[in-house]
Amino acid sequence: MEVNPDPHDFIFRSTLPDIYIPHHLPLHAYCFDSISRFKDRPCLINGPTGRIYSYAEVELTSRKVAAGLSKSGIQQGDVVMLLLQNSPEFVFSFFGASFRGAISTTANPFYTPAEIAKQATASKTKLLITQAVYAEKVKNFAKENDIKIITIDTPPEGCFHFSELTQVDEDEIPVVKVNPDDVVALPYSSGTTGLPKGVMLTHKSLVTSVAQQVDGENPNLYFHERDVILCVLPLFHIYSLNSVLLCSLRVGAAILIMQKFEIVTLMELVEKYKVTIAPFVPPIVLAIAKTPEVDKYDLSSIRMVMSGAAPMGKELEDAVRARLPNAKLGQGTNGVVSVQGYGMTEAGPVLAMNLAFAKEPRETKSGACGTVVRNAQMKIVDPETGASLPRNQSGEICIRGSQIMKGYLNDPEATERTIDKDGWLHTGDIGYIDEDDELFIVDRLKELIKYKGFQVAPAELEAMLISHPHISDAAVVPIKDEAAGEVPVAFVVRSNGSQITEDEIKQFISKQVVFYKRLGQVFFTDAIPKAPSGKILRKDLRAKLADM
Ligand code: AMP
Repeated sequence: MEVNPDPHDFIFRSTLPDIYIPHHLPLHAYCFDSISRFKDRPCLINGPTGRIYSYAEVELTSRKVAAGLSKSGIQQGDVVMLLLQNSPEFVFSFFGASFRGAISTTANPFYTPAEIAKQATASKTKLLITQAVYAEKVKNFAKENDIKIITIDTPPEGCFHFSELTQVDEDEIPVVKVNPDDVVALPYSSGTTGLPKGVMLTHKSLVTSVAQQVDGENPNLYFHERDVILCVLPLFHIYSLNSVLLCSLRVGAAILIMQKFEIVTLMELVEKYKVTIAPFVPPIVLAIAKTPEVDKYDLSSIRMVMSGAAPMGKELEDAVRARLPNAKLGQGTNGVVSVQGYGMTEAGPVLAMNLAFAKEPRETKSGACGTVVRNAQMKIVDPETGASLPRNQSGEICIRGSQIMKGYLNDPEATERTIDKDGWLHTGDIGYIDEDDELFIVDRLKELIKYKGFQVAPAELEAMLISHPHISDAAVVPIKDEAAGEVPVAFVVRSNGSQITEDEIKQFISKQVVFYKRLGQVFFTDAIPKAPSGKILRKDLRAKLADM
């Protein structure tokens, strides 16, 4: 629906009516709002062990963790780092922190010690919850900074077991008054430019975002309480945390937790627990389409496949349709099977989703990634003039609503560059809205590189490159890659007289970063093209790559 109060301002809204959103509720109260109705229902099914936790158990354990955190010195507003693969303890820790009025900063456990230390320092992490295998990576840093390490399995020396957080009496559970504008989650994202920054998502942001996805008109097409929802995508990323975990809890569905993706185990679990909704990314869809053993399993319970974050070809979509005949799939951006649509961490994260839950659902068009969520406004602006554009004209996608982040942690300048004075969040993505209100993303204005949906910030790699004594300047841009979507590659200017090789540079970076930030290729050049302001002209480098 297009609302056009001023002929010079084109604002798009959902075709569905706005809904009531209980903005006053803290996230934990909102997610467990119907606990009296759901209390005995299965909430979490731990895939690796088969242990089932009821809604009442999950809520109580989370409140106990709040007490345990409090006893460990965690105050309201303090930051706890979750360095965990998917596990029930991830859920207890996240909600434990929420009940405590504390903040969870989520990090990829595959990060290198330096990457973890950077995020822990920037976020002022006070306590770290992890697994024994990752504890070694953080031990030194934690010791130097007096950070307590809790492991969810047998703790190595100097660490404490998770049970320390839960072995409390009910009367020790703190009652905390949470303000809707208090931060509850602090994922890291580089946004449109620069280094990764702490994205402050408040209770209100996440309540709004979840409500936009599952509250109100929901005639059994989107998530509902009889669903069994697969949680294999990493909860440390906001897509899984919000659109899988929080949305499932809100509707009272059962969540089947897989620690990591493994195709045969996944099939066994889908069959055993009759999974109905499968949030995937294209590499998983590819495995389902291509693994012959899949035919041995009954996957007919799956009624919806959600996938996004990376492009997927039409053949692959057809192949997966043949394998999962009962599942509803929609075409998304670049042929992505997309029921969930389009997200960005800073936007809470969901900006657009298809109308799977509308009264008359329809498959989205090829290339579309849904329509703007309810209780929000979207506009498409000309990046040069800032003017809003009518339908079918491409420009920067901007969104406004209570779901967007409060800002970047301790970075008012980056916040101002991203959220303008009228409250519009500028995504750095280029797209248009067609005559049926469907959003198409056509390009990316921002620097961000996405490897299988994971963020790679060029500025982070560039800073590492120029710290090398044999490199005088460098720029990192994406190159298209069939399997990963995009891979970072570097243009490098060697220091005078240096003979440093491509392999040496690649190794220098590999040692410092998680696997998906590794450089695919290095190109030597005489100079990095820059604007008079010093800004790297990335477009020129991308054009150079296209010509190679
Ligand atoms: P993140 O903050 O890690 O979720 O990354 C957000 C970015 O991923 C967006 O700003 C887009 O550039 C990209 N993205 C997310 N969803 C889609 C989609 N459906 N189609 C194309 N790009 C997407």
